[in-house]
Amino acid sequence: MKIENVKVIGVVGAGTMGHGIAQTCTQTGYDVCLADVDRNILEKALRLIKEGPFGLMKLVEKGKLNPDQVDEIMKRIKTSTDYDEFCKDVDVVIEAVPENSELKKEILKSLDEKCPEKTVLASNTSGIMVTELAAAVGRKNKFVGMHWFNPPSVMPLIEVVRGSLTSDETFNSVIELSRKLGKIPIEAKDGPGFYTTRFITAYLFEAIRLFEAGVADIGGIDEMTKLAFRHPMGPFELMDLIGLDTMLHIGEYIYSLTWEPQFRPPLLLRKLVLSGYIGDSQFKPGSRGGWRDYFKVVKA
Ligand code: NAD
Repeated sequence: MKIENVKVIGVVGAGTMGHGIAQTCTQTGYDVCLADVDRNILEKALRLIKEGPFGLMKLVEKGKLNPDQVDEIMKRIKTSTDYDEFCKDVDVVIEAVPENSELKKEILKSLDEKCPEKTVLASNTSGIMVTELAAAVGRKNKFVGMHWFNPPSVMPLIEVVRGSLTSDETFNSVIELSRKLGKIPIEAKDGPGFYTTRFITAYLFEAIRLFEAGVADIGGIDEMTKLAFRHPMGPFELMDLIGLDTMLHIGEYIYSLTWEPQFRPPLLLRKLVLSGYIGDSQFKPGSRGGWRDYFKVVKA
């Protein structure tokens, strides 16, 4: 893939990450085709891209864009629920569907069958091994991990991960594309959780265990983390943003491959997910809320 030939970026999954990835791609000049199974989610994604807490109108408030530019950027996003239509012209596809290996493989297989031969397929998986997902596609040389951070339009890092059969050309072009998107790409080796997700999972699960052990309450742990370590968010606030279901899936996956106890999902996390508390309902349609809602934490 020659970077100067990349015109259209496809994003599959318009949830927490997909809408923000789509926003970043259009904001930096690319045409975007955003796909999801549900029309309502696509409409919500467009609203968040324009008016959400990290959306384009916030940049207008800060004087970085004017309203005409926002209209021009919004016009470059097409939405679709139909893969045949979606796959027609895409140069790169970034898959951002839920962190479930079987689901991702099924979608990647159909993208592989329907996209033009030239198209590079990237997965925004947080931690499923790229080599494992590559089993679903024929074009293993054109498949790569492109791990963004939340919120995608704000966070600077992209962790780029090559599977065992990713070609140098694909890897280097995704590094270059990440830079064009205004991000800082860093390579991590393939393995469950790569670098960032292994690190954050151990940290977040430890915060839950300390809460379970009664060391401090949720509000206290969040505040101590921010005040002591200058983190912009506490661990429970961060999990509400990431999605509790996503954290549970990630923990189960890393634990199943490493058997290291720090990755075993705490029971309390599972209980909240089973009860429908899967994170901040602003970003997670249908969620009853996150940690702070379940435990009725009053914001400090
Ligand atoms: P999400 O649940 O918010 O969004 C996933 C979207 O995919 C939903 O809108 C869903 O309708 C859609 N979807 C499901 N099946 C589909 C299909 N067959 N075709 C098209 N769309 C389909 O999930 P998310 O938090 O955005 O996570 C997406 C990916 O990004 C996961 O792999 C996750 O691990 C990774 N990730 C998440 C975060 C985070 O903070 N949430 C950070 C980095 C990476």
